[in-house]
Amino acid sequence: MSTAQYTYEKPMIRRLNSGLMNKFAGASPNQRKVKSEIAGVAVEDLVAAYGSPLFVYSEKTLRRKFRSMKQAFATRYPDVTFGWSYKTNYLKAICAILHQEGAIAELVSKMEYEKAKALGIEGKNMILNGPHKPFATLEAAVRDGVTINIDHLDEIEDLEAIATQIGQTIAVGIRLNLDAGIQPCWSRFGFNLESGQAMEAVHRIVSGGKLQIKGLHSHIGTFIMEPEAYARQVEKMIEFGYAIESAYGWRMEYIDIGGGFPSRSRLKGTYHAAEVLTPAIDDYADAICDAMWANLKSGHTPKLILESGRAVIDEAGSLITSVCSTKRLPDSTRAYVLDAGVNLLFTSFWYNFDISLGQPVNGECEQSVLYGPMCMNIDVIAESIALPALSRGDRLVVSTVGAYNNTQWLQFIEYRPNVVLITESGDVELIREAEDLGDLERRERLPARLAIAHLEKV
Ligand SMILES: *Cc1c(COP(=O)(O)O)cnc(C)c1O
Repeated sequence: MSTAQYTYEKPMIRRLNSGLMNKFAGASPNQRKVKSEIAGVAVEDLVAAYGSPLFVYSEKTLRRKFRSMKQAFATRYPDVTFGWSYKTNYLKAICAILHQEGAIAELVSKMEYEKAKALGIEGKNMILNGPHKPFATLEAAVRDGVTINIDHLDEIEDLEAIATQIGQTIAVGIRLNLDAGIQPCWSRFGFNLESGQAMEAVHRIVSGGKLQIKGLHSHIGTFIMEPEAYARQVEKMIEFGYAIESAYGWRMEYIDIGGGFPSRSRLKGTYHAAEVLTPAIDDYADAICDAMWANLKSGHTPKLILESGRAVIDEAGSLITSVCSTKRLPDSTRAYVLDAGVNLLFTSFWYNFDISLGQPVNGECEQSVLYGPMCMNIDVIAESIALPALSRGDRLVVSTVGAYNNTQWLQFIEYRPNVVLITESGDVELIREAEDLGDLERRERLPARLAIAHLEKV
């Protein structure tokens, strides 16, 4: 890299716009940040020890973020519980850190339920949500005392059958979907409030005589930029809860408002820096807790449950990737092939990532394209990003990638790489080992008649 300053660079002319406003909220599009360390550890040292690409989590950032969110709510309302949304990131070490901080497990499938159980989480510290709860999982969850939020009518029937089996009434929650002013309205989960479907479900539960409603759940969407939407959600949920109470005498023990807070990532189509756009967590806590106090009857403080995923973990995760090749496209655009693409960064379909240089690079920035390693046209990490001329082997650090990537990453074309955690004291711990062929083929069976020795030479 020391010879980079002598390599040929295409001359370019750029108009000076000094003194003009730009739509990038102050950050010049012609500079690229350098991030040569992550949580105090040099990017080069990380790559030397664990290879590239590499996912890196900062334990300090994660704990700090979780504590500040918890604090924002705990100072405004007396009974708050956080449920960790496993699907956002279910690496064991990440879940364990959040459980250590006091989060319970929020689960949406048999697999996640089994994962939390294997990690040692007790049923009373689990919430089971989601549209697909196999009968045997429901049975086990009831036995373990898990909080179950019912998604649909068939689940009511399943739970009634289980109540009959065990000869006991089962306490349940029901999931509502409602119009909080957020489009699209996620009407596919739970029972719709405004149409009367939710109250019909309550009647149905009452007439069965085997279940008892003790809580309400709803999750209005993800990346919700409007704190006031949660205030509308809380108001509607509480009003519905009191309608149930006055009809059947069941008092709400908990109100679970789901997740959906934004992280500091930029959604495609937004120009400003995330710091400028994203409301602070205190704005959400204010809107939510004010709505609780304004609508609850005096002396009634049901447990407030939050299931924030993205906002908790996104900033703690980074991905180091390396330039494998540099190209010029026929229209003269500069392009790079990286060793990480949409296989590892599933969220690149809707995020503009914060991408920094892993080392200083000299030269003027030029709009460039970043491709991943897939032999697939859609494998693009950044369609147009200002970068100085990179060389093969240069590192980039992609930030705010802790949410949804290590669960949605693909076992497709490439092996999935190492994941490390940087501890609060700056040590590096391997929390998921890079895959090899054995991981991919463990479940495959090759019928003996197809063994290569029996095939004709091709
Ligand atoms: C996915 C999910 C969450 C977490 O959502 P975020 O947008 O990541 O905060 C919470 N609750 C339920 C039921 C979910 O499905």
